[in-house]
Amino acid sequence: MVAAHLLRAGGARVVLFDQTGRFGTGVAYSTTSSQHLLNVPAGRMSAFPDAADDFLRWGQRHGHVWTGGSFVPRMIYGQYLRDTLNAAESAGGMLLRVTGEVISARETPSEVKLEWRGEPGAAVQTTRADAAVLALGNFAPRAPHPSLRELDPARYMNDPWCGAALAPADPTSPLLLVGTGLTMVDVCLTLTEGGHRGPIHAVSRRGLLPTAHRAAPKPAKYEPPKGVENWERTARGYLREVRREVAAAAKRGVDWREVITSLRPVTQRLWQGLDLRERKRFNEHVRPFWEIVRHRSAPTIDGRIQELILSGRLVIHSGRILGATPVIDGVDVRMATRGSGGERTRRFSRVINCTGPNSDCRVRADAGADGLGGAPTALIAQLVREGLATADPLGLGLRADAEGRLERKSPGLAPRLWLIGPLRKADLWECTAVPELRDEAAKVAGAISRESAAWGLPDVSAAC
Ligand SMILES: Cc1cc2nc3c(=O)[nH]c(=O)nc-3n(C[C@H](O)[C@H](O)[C@H](O)COP(=O)(O)OP(=O)(O)OC[C@H]3O[C@@H](n4cnc5c(N)ncnc54)[C@H](O)[C@@H]3O)c2cc1C
Repeated sequence: MVAAHLLRAGGARVVLFDQTGRFGTGVAYSTTSSQHLLNVPAGRMSAFPDAADDFLRWGQRHGHVWTGGSFVPRMIYGQYLRDTLNAAESAGGMLLRVTGEVISARETPSEVKLEWRGEPGAAVQTTRADAAVLALGNFAPRAPHPSLRELDPARYMNDPWCGAALAPADPTSPLLLVGTGLTMVDVCLTLTEGGHRGPIHAVSRRGLLPTAHRAAPKPAKYEPPKGVENWERTARGYLREVRREVAAAAKRGVDWREVITSLRPVTQRLWQGLDLRERKRFNEHVRPFWEIVRHRSAPTIDGRIQELILSGRLVIHSGRILGATPVIDGVDVRMATRGSGGERTRRFSRVINCTGPNSDCRVRADAGADGLGGAPTALIAQLVREGLATADPLGLGLRADAEGRLERKSPGLAPRLWLIGPLRKADLWECTAVPELRDEAAKVAGAISRESAAWGLPDVSAAC
């Protein structure tokens, strides 16, 4: 989206790096399963804040019969993103797509120097630019228990999005999915679509499943609660106010989902109103509940999950993993059950990590064999280690200013490095879905364009 803005404005020369070679579609929209639906209705998925129905109109041009309330396959949205990029490329400027992993980014007063590799082990190459935008996206989850990392990849799959087959050879064997959110839903549907017939178990601390969107095509419009700026700035205070608002709305016959949706435009402000201690409390205690009401699934998807549960093919547990031991035909997983204090060991043929994207960029001094020290990629480890980026103390990404300029450890903001996407959770909380990403993209492109005038390049910010 940032590239599209810069190109549409004309004159920009943009180099896109992606280590997977899937330009624009990333983890979310490169799925090839038609069962993976967007969890945001089509009417809210335009790539551009100033053209709210762009995705709907693109769909009509391609013969899709949708309404603004339709939940459409994510792979179709991927096609829309690719087309959007191609259209921007034809509009002007110059776009170069490079398949490779960027492993470092360093600024000088006059440029950014990026080092990258075409493939692991290949020679390091260098590209220089006036500015760089880090749109690094969603990283594979962290292993929910260290013993899982020791297992053979045939028994433990840490990255559910890596593109490898999820199901083991025996379609009747029992599987364990760790996590019960939208990633678990995706994986479960992929497995059953691929012919897996065996029992699927899913476990998370509280065993909470995502709620479903309302099936009504035109949900009632609900205004954000008045006076949010006066809410007590604590996790508990926010919880109390939201519950009060939901109860008041229910008395007027308004569904709770409308209240949650109405908070979206003020969520970033609410998050920024919390100090670090309260953010920590929210993250630890309120987040599991917030996630299931905020990140809802499409009604048809929810229907399929409920069918699987009713038929006994999907079993949800609340508890945590205490350890995993390889055995000849699978893996024995020891789990503690929430509430009862009891423990139980079950045998599975494979465990799949569905705990959701990892955004923890903190780097430990005692880097392991991979040299990353806990950071998800070499680039992030380098930026944090050299003080060019600041990792959020709660593991919610990297810090940046209101326009997305990366915050250095010292002496302040990085003038030529921008950040966008899920790693901005530290400052924005609500920043992972398209309705927010498109606003951030326009902001970042606008800021780069404005600053480019100072670098002796044409200022195209008015067009962003
Ligand atoms: C499974 C899933 C489903 C989702 N569904 C929805 C939905 O229905 N609606 C919605 O609004 N939002 C949804 N989201 C939210 C989603 O995060 C965003 O919509 C969007 O995909 C984020 O875009 P991005 O460009 O920041 O990251 P990504 O799309 O993840 O792209 C980042 C890309 O950067 C590459 N990369 C990372 N580091 C490097 C490096 N050092 N060098 C080179 N390349 C690198 C990665 O390989 C990746 O291809 C979903 C997210 C996930 C994970």
